[in-house]
Amino acid sequence: MKRITGIVFFIILFTGWLTSKQMAITLDDLPFAYSPGLSEQARFSYFYRILDILDQYEIQTAGFVVGEQVSPRRYQCLLDFHNRGHIIANHTFSHPDLNNLSAGDFSEDIIKCNQVIEEFYNEVKYFRYPMLHRGNSIEKRDSVYDFLHRQGFIIASVSIDNDEYAFNKAYLDTLTYGDTAAADSIGEEYLAYMISISNYYDSLALELTGREINHILLLHMNYLNSVYLDDLIELLMKDGWEFLPFSEAIQDSVYLLPDNYIGTRGISWLERIQ
Ligand SMILES: [Zn+2]
Repeated sequence: MKRITGIVFFIILFTGWLTSKQMAITLDDLPFAYSPGLSEQARFSYFYRILDILDQYEIQTAGFVVGEQVSPRRYQCLLDFHNRGHIIANHTFSHPDLNNLSAGDFSEDIIKCNQVIEEFYNEVKYFRYPMLHRGNSIEKRDSVYDFLHRQGFIIASVSIDNDEYAFNKAYLDTLTYGDTAAADSIGEEYLAYMISISNYYDSLALELTGREINHILLLHMNYLNSVYLDDLIELLMKDGWEFLPFSEAIQDSVYLLPDNYIGTRGISWLERIQ
């Protein structure tokens, strides 16, 4: 009996190891995402607080830069982000919505961002679409795909899409009114929501591909995460998630599957390959 229990235990351990949930964390809208009411000093503080949390957990991420937001002073943030082992990547110059723009104008905006961050590029350069909008017609979508391919970009797809930005906005709004109790409850809701949405996309990936994939989580370089990122990482780990560098996660072949979606919505890569 003891032996059978031991074998069962081993099998559970073994399959658990085989099916561990893996994700990379990525941060959009560097240097600072939506942060009205915060002084420049407060923005710098929250930026470095997030970097410290990533250091503490030894998590390597990629940060997607909006070129026009980079003043000479803010450039230091990018330098430090890069020097602490993270990847600096292109998120356009002016964060335009591809639904409202031609492929040509959109491509020029990407080139313009290159001029701000190209000293950070290694042998590989990554691009992420603002709002995850990849084009509302086949022609537009494929024309930008061709452009990115010719320019040598790898598209930084997102498997775990979410409404974290809305929690950040609500959190900052309540702090503006001085309602710290309400802010705390938004923070708690945010954490529970992120665990649930991560598992939702993990189930979707299993259903679509029949295996665990290397997930890519979209977060923003925002104030909310400077307060909650360490709690979020702890809760995800308790829930069985492990973290891997973005540069590894993006090599999962799931991100090379054909894109079957045409439309205006910004959605997870998993919803595009359905
Ligand atoms: Zn963005």
